[in-house]
Amino acid sequence: MKQYDAIIIGAGQAGPSLAGRLTKAGMTVAFVERHLFGGTCVNTGCMPTKTLVASAYAAHLSRRAAEYGVVRGSDVQIDMSIAKGRADTVSANAREGVEKHLRGMTGCTVLQGHARFESPTTVRVGDERLTAPRIFINVGGRAYVPDMPGVGQVSYLTNTSILKLERVPRHLVVVGGSYVGLEFAQIYRRFGATVTVVEMGPRLIGREDEDVSLEIRNILEGEGISVRTSATCIRLAPHDEGVVVGVDCTDGPPEVIGSDVLLAVGRRPNTDDLGLEAAGVSTDAKGYITVDDELATNVPGIWALGDCNGRGAFTHTAYNDFEIIAANLLDGAHRRLSDRISAYALYIDPPLGRVGQTESQARASGRPLLTAKRPMSRVGRAVEKGETLGFMKVVADAETKRILGAAILGTGGDEAIHGVLDIMNAGATFDVLQWSVPIHPTVSELIPTLLGDMKPTP
Ligand SMILES: Cc1cc2nc3c(=O)[nH]c(=O)nc-3n(C[C@H](O)[C@H](O)[C@H](O)COP(=O)(O)OP(=O)(O)OC[C@H]3O[C@@H](n4cnc5c(N)ncnc54)[C@H](O)[C@@H]3O)c2cc1C
Repeated sequence: MKQYDAIIIGAGQAGPSLAGRLTKAGMTVAFVERHLFGGTCVNTGCMPTKTLVASAYAAHLSRRAAEYGVVRGSDVQIDMSIAKGRADTVSANAREGVEKHLRGMTGCTVLQGHARFESPTTVRVGDERLTAPRIFINVGGRAYVPDMPGVGQVSYLTNTSILKLERVPRHLVVVGGSYVGLEFAQIYRRFGATVTVVEMGPRLIGREDEDVSLEIRNILEGEGISVRTSATCIRLAPHDEGVVVGVDCTDGPPEVIGSDVLLAVGRRPNTDDLGLEAAGVSTDAKGYITVDDELATNVPGIWALGDCNGRGAFTHTAYNDFEIIAANLLDGAHRRLSDRISAYALYIDPPLGRVGQTESQARASGRPLLTAKRPMSRVGRAVEKGETLGFMKVVADAETKRILGAAILGTGGDEAIHGVLDIMNAGATFDVLQWSVPIHPTVSELIPTLLGDMKPTP
């Protein structure tokens, strides 16, 4: 049995930085990773997908080149080996960087293998047994494959396997019209595939406001993506041409025949094979590790960070978990999960930048509200760029004058939303932002104008 000051399981978005802080504080750390350093974001999530989004954007703009007065000779062709090669290189560089960083860290012992608890203070990795008074779980998640009819009879893609494709599917059927599915749908449509999105719910990306969801549908349909919503019973079956997807929708044909099908219906935590029961660590019904406001599990000395605790589903939330734990354990701080304002982006083009509550969540509170909305066609920078799809909107509490939430669905929306996020984090009233002097011409410069248009909600 080898003794350490701390054990970290999983080299995702929180673990490696935590190892850095703990070893700098003089602790010995055993770091266990079973597969690829950098976890989901680096290898099968944010980084490769956003690299492909950039290739897809280049293809889209090339097709529109004539609108900008740029004359090209021939049709746009996609060379998947180059597009995939870019994504592979970006991921590989980041992965190698994380591994090198950990292996070169004084006080950190890296073990490659699957970690499993044997007791609240003991973890087994292959033939080795490790013990420490502090154990940090950063095991992330994987694609959820639902037990839908026929799933065992067809070969399907997930966010991991689709990144290995060396070809553009002839007809990609994306099951799941939410964040992961929509990004892949648009990427492959822009690469030249026929794409159908099949969604069980009545609208795409159902957690967002209805106007956001409808505009996203318009954007995707405008590029030729077929959208089938209210597909209450989805079935899969083999077909000569690939796979047939049964869709019981209120309208449209009952089946879609695709060459490939991507299952993008959610994620599940990597907690089922961690031996949590041997440590007595509690999970919820979906397997997410239950944590308190400072990321501690029910077992003293064990913390859970990142996607596996179900309190965030993003790289920045996993990283923030590390920051909270490091500040509280090493700096005597009392940072809390509940201090975090929800913010994220959907990287279709144009992107959706989101912060705080949706308008419907704010309305459900029953508080008096102020709201404003502006189409991107009335944002100078968007007009100049020839990218006027989407809108920006904001909702604030009419009494406190604090912004409750905002959505910027439009060019630069993933960046511009930070102006709103910053003012919310500062705890300031919205007139502070309204009276700022932003740079012209930017998308952000219209946020003060938007705030000046605030009206009481009916
Ligand atoms: C297609 C896709 C696109 C995404 N795009 C974005 C985006 O643009 N922006 C964003 O913020 N987020 C995005 N995400 C989400 C983001 O990738 C995750 O939220 C983030 O990676 C979570 O980090 P984590 O540290 O919790 O875990 P992970 O990054 O999943 O890392 C967990 C690590 O633990 C290891 N592990 C698991 N079990 C064990 C074990 N028993 N023993 C040893 N090691 C183990 C795994 O091998 C893995 O390396 C995307 C996700 C997907 C799927």
